[in-house]
Amino acid sequence: MLKDRFERQIDILRISITQECNLKCPYCHREGESDPKDTMSVDEITKITRASADLGIKKVKITGGEPLMRKEVTDIIRAISSIENIEEISMTTNGTMLKEQACELKKAGLARLNIGCDSLSSSILPKTVDRLKSSIIAAKNAGFDSIKLNMVVLNGVNDNSIKDMTEFSNEQGTTLQLIELIRTKDNSEFFQKYFYSLEDIEKELASKAESIETRPMHNRKRYNLDGATIELVRPHRSEFCANCRTLRITSDGKIRPCLMRNDNLLDILKNIRQGADNGELSRVILEGIQRREPYVKER
Ligand code: SAM
Repeated sequence: MLKDRFERQIDILRISITQECNLKCPYCHREGESDPKDTMSVDEITKITRASADLGIKKVKITGGEPLMRKEVTDIIRAISSIENIEEISMTTNGTMLKEQACELKKAGLARLNIGCDSLSSSILPKTVDRLKSSIIAAKNAGFDSIKLNMVVLNGVNDNSIKDMTEFSNEQGTTLQLIELIRTKDNSEFFQKYFYSLEDIEKELASKAESIETRPMHNRKRYNLDGATIELVRPHRSEFCANCRTLRITSDGKIRPCLMRNDNLLDILKNIRQGADNGELSRVILEGIQRREPYVKER
């Protein structure tokens, strides 16, 4: 079992495969990347994943930018799904190009989808049900049976859409994932204006839920009630960091031990381009894991 210095098990590799995106969501943290200078090839992504899988990584999450903007996205998934020990590949997408690609992605080995969907309709937030409903249906028809709708809740913008989004998600048989806005180094004004705490929602769900599950990842709670499934992501709590199981790879080939930090990245792409073999890459990945530490600590 792969563990960091804080006894946290690491079994998920979150890989950004492009920084390009066709939307401009006002809250987006871009997976912490601001000015990537390079892009990993399919072969380089595969090498990093293979070395990680040899160490104990079992799940891969593909992200971006918008991963479906990368023309080799299916090749990437096919290559990763052929790696021994990788048990599950999932993707987080804005869904705008999913309708055309859903079947191919499923065939290539993609198992789960997170589709960004922030409200029924909005003039400010581009990821809306109006725009994405046909993609969500196409994904279900392609055989994806685990689909989550990622809703970043913003104060005064879409906090009053939670009920409508719950109903929509329930109708579709998807899980609604309510996400608190993450505070980054660059968004302090935006954060002050738009952060919406899910504290009260969580209390209400806890009192009404027919059952509650706790997922190992971030100790996230999943509430089941009236046929709906709602999961909460509350990143500013110490239990979130204490249960973080993810190692991140940036689109330009850097190991990123924590979304919130820019000062401890490790350039693994440089090693690959200098001819490092699988064993050497595993050692670089272990060094990246050594650099992990909880961002929000117990007080
Ligand atoms: N373009 C894809 C998408 O829209 O899902 C993948 C990249 S996006 C960075 C991945 C997910 O991060 C989004 O679905 C959204 O839920 C989440 N996200 C982005 N910025 C965030 C922020 N500031 N706070 C909380 N969640 C955020």
